[in-house]
Amino acid sequence: MSTNPVSIKTTPTFNTSAPNRLPNFSAGPATIPTAVLSRAQEELLDWQGSGMSVMEVSHRSKEYLAITEKAEAKLRSLIEIPDNYKVLFLQGGASLQFSAIPLNLLNGGRADYLTTGTWSDKAIKEAKRYANLGLGEINMVATGKDSNFTDVPAQSDWNLSDDAAYFHYCANETIHGLQIFELPQVNVPLIVDMSSSILSQSINVSKFGMIYAGAQKNIGPAGLVIVVVREDLLGRASEWCPLLLNYKHQAEKESMSNTPATYSWYLAGLVFDWIEEQGGVAALGKINQQKADLLYKTIDDSSFYSNPVATQYRSIMNVPFTLADSSLDKVFLEESAAAGLMNLKGHRDVGGMRASIYNAVPLEWVQQLVDFMIAFEKKYG
Ligand code: PMP
Repeated sequence: MSTNPVSIKTTPTFNTSAPNRLPNFSAGPATIPTAVLSRAQEELLDWQGSGMSVMEVSHRSKEYLAITEKAEAKLRSLIEIPDNYKVLFLQGGASLQFSAIPLNLLNGGRADYLTTGTWSDKAIKEAKRYANLGLGEINMVATGKDSNFTDVPAQSDWNLSDDAAYFHYCANETIHGLQIFELPQVNVPLIVDMSSSILSQSINVSKFGMIYAGAQKNIGPAGLVIVVVREDLLGRASEWCPLLLNYKHQAEKESMSNTPATYSWYLAGLVFDWIEEQGGVAALGKINQQKADLLYKTIDDSSFYSNPVATQYRSIMNVPFTLADSSLDKVFLEESAAAGLMNLKGHRDVGGMRASIYNAVPLEWVQQLVDFMIAFEKKYG
């Protein structure tokens, strides 16, 4: 019989070795920094000498509350969240926020929505369901549908409401690879879906009424959605708003109206520590730009690959591309997987390939992808 002694040590700094990790370009759930997974592994059976796993302790215990407080403080410092904003760590993914937003903020009024791809389209469709129940009105200011969501209608052509309760948009359309870098110029609370772009570049939180993001791209594992909401927007919820979706209630309960996603929250805290160790969001933003530039240059330098998105809206997080000869798609995916480059299949709405290059994807992986693409083009082009 083999005894299997488990040796546990908690190290103060991240272990950066990456044994057997394959370049993973998944759109989400997506790559988590190897160093974070190693740390979680080290702490899995015995969190900081407690003799228990983080997963096994009460969310109301002093030890666990130390984790949540630290995670919130780190996120606040990473993106400089002003004091008049609440940070909520909720469940139901970004999609449940599509309901929570009108339920909390419509308040009998009219809300403006910009449609730029699959995700903002889902958000407006969900909001309209509440409008149809009499909770208010939903107005689509513009849609990029005519361009197959490769471009955004000019703001001068938007049909803005006079006095909207809020303006909703998606900063980065994960499926279409379309990112809005400029802030929409509106005088009402800006509500933004940053699921696939949060923490990838510096932002000015004070320009937003609310930011929300599902965790499974740049924050950590699925099961968590982060909501950063300005305090004056609390307390407007419809009486139909479920308590668990009510921002004011969740803020008062410190996101613990019921049992939160404790392990995902803990891992998010580790990811925030890791981002800080990388030099913060601005430092990661520079690397993210380099990664995106390298990939787009490879695509643009060839007539074999193409990306349809208008240049100023090209996402630095999700890069879809097609092959001139789509009958080679299957071969590309087989050969890239054989070369250890994982999860490059494009979304079924768009086809072709997509490389998601979130914070945790290092420049070297993008270089490996580009080397593969060039070799593939030589072979089949
Ligand atoms: N918004 C965006 C921009 C997304 O990319 C996604 C998921 N890919 C969602 C919303 C929905 O997230 P969830 O699956 O967490 O509900």
